[in-house]
Amino acid sequence: MNDCVFCKIGAGDIPSTMLHKDEDVYVIADINPKAPTHLLIIPLEHVGALTDDAPGRTAVLGRMVEVASEMAKQEGIASSGYRLIINQGPDSGQEVPHLHLHLLAGRRLGAMG
Ligand code: AMP
Ligand code: ZN
Repeated sequence: MNDCVFCKIGAGDIPSTMLHKDEDVYVIADINPKAPTHLLIIPLEHVGALTDDAPGRTAVLGRMVEVASEMAKQEGIASSGYRLIINQGPDSGQEVPHLHLHLLAGRRLGAMG
């Protein structure tokens, strides 16, 4: 998608510091962190709404969670704990309409809601 910021970052059209990149996903630090550690695990391929049918999406979601767990170990927060979040749609406050997984850690995150 031409105007999608996460597609552009994945393609290298917008410069970024990638903490991880493989053939499926990449990881960047969130530009507006909500916790001491706030990473975004993002599929290279554009996946729009989580509720749309998309071939291969189950595998991509699995890979995103797997990479999140690898990043938690790499960042040294695997045992202190972390939270994984996917926002979908207006009520979630989703800003970027390209599937991504937030990894938040480094402080007590408090109740959900
Ligand atoms: P969401 O609300 O789930 O769509 O989350 C989108 C996240 O992307 C927000 O937390 C933003 O701070 C973050 N974000 C937007 N643009 C960038 C960027 N260029 N680099 C890093 N993070 C970004
Ligand atoms: Zn995209």
